[in-house]
Amino acid sequence: MAQYVNLDTLRFLLYEVHHAEKLLQYDRYKDFDLSAFDMLLDSAKSWADQDFYPHYRTMDEQPAYFKDGIVHTHPILKKIFKDAGENGWIGMYIDQKDGGLQLPMTISNAIFHILEAANNHIPGYLGLTSGSAHLITSFGSDFLKKTYVPPMLSGQWAGTMALTEPQAGSSLSDITTSATLLDDGTYSIKGQKIFISGGDHEGADNFIHLTLARIDGAPSGTKGISLFVVPQYKVEADGNTTYNHVKAVADFQKMGQRGYSTVHLVYGEDDICHGYLVGEPNMGLKYMFQMMNGARIDVGLSAVSIATAAYYASLQYAQERPQGRKIQSSGKKDTAEGQTLIINHPDVRRMLLLQKVIIEGGLSLLIECSLYNDLAQCDTNETGHNSQLLLELLTPIAKTYPAEMGRVAVNNGLQVLGGYGYCSDFPLQQYLRDIRIMAIYEGTTGIQSMDLLGRKVPMENGQALQLLLAQMIDTIKKVSIYENLAPYGQLFEQSLNKVQRAIEYLTAYAIQGDYEHYLADATIFMELTSNVVIAHQWLKMALAAKKALQSEDRTQTEQFYKAKIHAMQFYFKYELPKTSAALETLLSSDKLTLIEDENEIIF
Ligand SMILES: Cc1cc2nc3c(=O)[nH]c(=O)nc-3n(C[C@H](O)[C@H](O)[C@H](O)COP(=O)(O)OP(=O)(O)OC[C@H]3O[C@@H](n4cnc5c(N)ncnc54)[C@H](O)[C@@H]3O)c2cc1C
Repeated sequence: MAQYVNLDTLRFLLYEVHHAEKLLQYDRYKDFDLSAFDMLLDSAKSWADQDFYPHYRTMDEQPAYFKDGIVHTHPILKKIFKDAGENGWIGMYIDQKDGGLQLPMTISNAIFHILEAANNHIPGYLGLTSGSAHLITSFGSDFLKKTYVPPMLSGQWAGTMALTEPQAGSSLSDITTSATLLDDGTYSIKGQKIFISGGDHEGADNFIHLTLARIDGAPSGTKGISLFVVPQYKVEADGNTTYNHVKAVADFQKMGQRGYSTVHLVYGEDDICHGYLVGEPNMGLKYMFQMMNGARIDVGLSAVSIATAAYYASLQYAQERPQGRKIQSSGKKDTAEGQTLIINHPDVRRMLLLQKVIIEGGLSLLIECSLYNDLAQCDTNETGHNSQLLLELLTPIAKTYPAEMGRVAVNNGLQVLGGYGYCSDFPLQQYLRDIRIMAIYEGTTGIQSMDLLGRKVPMENGQALQLLLAQMIDTIKKVSIYENLAPYGQLFEQSLNKVQRAIEYLTAYAIQGDYEHYLADATIFMELTSNVVIAHQWLKMALAAKKALQSEDRTQTEQFYKAKIHAMQFYFKYELPKTSAALETLLSSDKLTLIEDENEIIF
């Protein structure tokens, strides 16, 4: 089987860079130890080898489709749901009291990385089911928890998140799906939702739609949105289930992730569709943010994992494909010499290294965010509080960097294969199509960038940003004691100053109340900041590698650690300098995208 993931790098990031073992000191994780974590990673890999990877191509070639009221999906899905339920994979990070394994999200996300890299058309079905079950356990009534969560965790029923409507995508304040209180305390839900992932399929017997709707008379905007559990089949008092009048009426045929169903749902068209209110009225968006924030990390993870699989596919090709001859020092070609493998051409090596730094840098950030999530949950002291702030600040970056730069990585992977990269005999074209959605799911890049600059940077008087800067300065100090790492610490400090300069410059507009100017280039700010954040991950990886090289009992080969330092150097030579261009754009006072005169024609 071809390589699609690297467990050595995954373990290096988990234990040597981010020290996931520190979670074991908390009572919440007392049932685990490192060997249990390792065993779970190995079992996930075996499961991925057996049931995910072999179906990656066929799920693309035979996509999910809607016909005669049924959403037809790949037959493997039924087995996946059954096995996932039986082995606890759906409830991995959910509390034991609610039927889950209570595993750290750091480990469950490492497991999802393996599954996503093997076949990114499948894990979303499971992730949405976990996420919606988690939302019910966090905010739902005992009735909802007892009735709907167990069959979801056992893989019989699936969950979805139903937010988007035809007129309300990026802006959820415009949703119109209505909820009318009925005598029995449930609500009659009426409306439609589009683009609902996993909204109906053949892998599960019932679908529990976590639906945003507006209770009659609720305030307009986001303050009037409530959250409902809307089952496709609702459980009656006698335990039997009856159809609840929410159905898929169409599907969306997509450019990528074609095995992952995406449907149009209609609620209450022919009879009453009952919805059960979750928590308090008008608090829906706040509750939904739990799932949305988790989903943003999941999207970043999915992007990194697709790009990882693409990297290994292109690396294998480069190691096998002979083409041309090596450049001689004379500059002339020696045709008497045999062809060389393309991996010996510097430009091909550049494309491979570019992929490597994007995927490993992105994965490192996602593991760090997962760790912050766990620490925020189980540490009641300053560490927990700070972890929550850092998680909130970094989430838009952890979603956007892998989505945007992961696509660049896969595109370079395709280029490594030359003409074959474009053809369906090889998987690179599929990886490129599959990864494209990641910059759209869960808030587009534009929306994530405005969230970063508009909400997260100023959050709590810039406290999260200060925490991040303090960590970065600490890393600079740590690398400064190593002669061959210290120069990179200095380069990093210069790039950090660029982020600070950009914030100072833009904040002046916010202070004047000119928010349009403040946020106009939020996406360029995202490019600058995420470049620096990933450089930080690479410095930390180089530091861990350096320490391992100096140690007697290292877990990987010398070559492994040297390659990490080499990759850090590559990042600093080829990627970090792009921060200068981003800063120049941000500091320019030209208002080329702002509407200054409604009548001026620029398009
Ligand atoms: C395959 C697929 C699966 C999906 N799965 C789900 C799901 O399971 N559940 C669910 O609820 N939704 C789902 N979605 C919906 C997805 O979250 C939305 O498509 C996404 O949030 C963008 O909304 P939109 O498509 O309406 O685009 P729009 O909001 O119309 O955006 C169009 C463009 O305008 C930009 N834009 C919009 N508003 C602003 C602004 N204020 N400032 C600057 N730029 C702006 C955007 O960045 C984008 O470039 C899915 C979508 C797809 C395609």
